Amino acid sequence: MAPHQRQVACSIPVHPPAPPANVPLDVAVITRAALTTGFLRILFLGKSTARTTVRKLKLVLCLSLVSAALSVGLCQPSLGQGDADLEAPGLAPFPTTLARGATLFQNVRIFDGKSAALSAPSNVLVKGNVIERISVDPITFETNANVHIIAANGRVLMPGLIDAHWHAFMAATPQMLLMTADSSYLHLLAARQAEATLMRGFTTVRDLGGPVFGLKRAIDEGIMLGPRIYPSGAFISQTSGHGDFRFLFEVPRTLGGPLSHSEVEGVAAIADSPDEVRLRAREQLRNGATQIKLMAGGGVASPHNPIESTQFTEAEIRAAVEAADNWGTYVTVHAYTPRAIRQAVAAGVKCIEHGQLIDEPTAKLLADKGIWWSLQPLLDDKDVPALSAESRKKALEVFAGTDNAYQLAKKHKVKTAFGTDVLFDARIASRQGAILAKMVRWYTPAEALKTATADNGELMALSGFIDPYPGKLGVVEEGALADLLLVDGNPLENIKLIEDPDEHFLVIMKDGTIYKNMVPK
Ligand SMILES: [Zn+2]
Repeated sequence: MAPHQRQVACSIPVHPPAPPANVPLDVAVITRAALTTGFLRILFLGKSTARTTVRKLKLVLCLSLVSAALSVGLCQPSLGQGDADLEAPGLAPFPTTLARGATLFQNVRIFDGKSAALSAPSNVLVKGNVIERISVDPITFETNANVHIIAANGRVLMPGLIDAHWHAFMAATPQMLLMTADSSYLHLLAARQAEATLMRGFTTVRDLGGPVFGLKRAIDEGIMLGPRIYPSGAFISQTSGHGDFRFLFEVPRTLGGPLSHSEVEGVAAIADSPDEVRLRAREQLRNGATQIKLMAGGGVASPHNPIESTQFTEAEIRAAVEAADNWGTYVTVHAYTPRAIRQAVAAGVKCIEHGQLIDEPTAKLLADKGIWWSLQPLLDDKDVPALSAESRKKALEVFAGTDNAYQLAKKHKVKTAFGTDVLFDARIASRQGAILAKMVRWYTPAEALKTATADNGELMALSGFIDPYPGKLGVVEEGALADLLLVDGNPLENIKLIEDPDEHFLVIMKDGTIYKNMVPK
């Protein structure tokens, strides 16, 4: 290809490298000082001075509140333990300006999300939010063109990571806090965690339950930083199902009776009958769900159902499937056992979450019907949160099935998605990339990365005409959405690089905007 002349006008959306996020700050002292100084001035000074002072005070208070939110987010690992340790690697400060523009990655070797090997040294031009051109020949410009050039020096450019099973509201916040704290506080924690998620290189998540419509909107509007979110809204559960977290004294409820706390907050929606399931599914779609999540079998964290239980009837699941299908999208279900999976498949769901207790005929059924299997590498290792004795027993059953599940998924070539399903634990949430790296127990590094990029991107597109981010995700190719990571090292040789995104992801770009750039000048 001949050298290409191009004129591009843009602003340069580059932010300085993130300084260490360890910012000790006594918010209470600052707030108290601001209040005292401000009010004393209002008392002793004239009216106009007072007005200026009030404005200044507002600013100080506002900064203090933002700092408070940041501090709280930063010390999530310690929540509930009464201290305020501000350690949280990977959290960058709020940037002051965000703009799209044109960026040229010079001299990159590309992992395109699909191939087993890297490309030859290439140049990649991003314009707006799209990868416009990929060429082994130099891409040149008019000398006055406003293009931000990243001299990548042979480093690896790959698609942003996608987590197909994430809970933005609940991943990093302890369960007891979720059940008892003020919800506005919980949403601030979730927003802070969303920023950390993006800074781990996860540019897209499919959220499988929790109130994240507001968070998604704030991120899409650029008010907060975070990944693209494909929200499910509340997960829909039958009474006593995996999504029924009511206390024993809240049961029985009468039909049409008051909603429980987790329903009011938008975490769960309890439904018993096809009509109720249809209503709850339509409510989520109305609020912006891109897919519907149903609990179709027993779970680990929920105390009132055995792991072997099958949940909902085929008619109930089908009611949700019809509602979703009319909206151009699909239902995915939480299910571990062959019986629960088979009932859901018969009802028309297009994706199964977990499935660790599957048998071979059922795995083959998924392959034959082209149904997605959203699997998580759940093992009895350091990524297991604290569990009750009862939950721990159920968890061990699930972990014991994980090897078999991946082997069957590979053997029958089931369309397999990668997800983490981290719940209630900030330390484990910070290991989102490390959980992906564990996949080399069953796959080559390239295959593992493919599930979290190109394959997951294909699953996101299953949301059809309500897809909030139309365009190709999870691949580096011309015309695809520009979600890109520049890696210092070759993850196809050493997948452990993705365990430490602070160190090894030098550039993080989402939708054509650079959120991190640590390429040495
Ligand atoms: Zn989940």
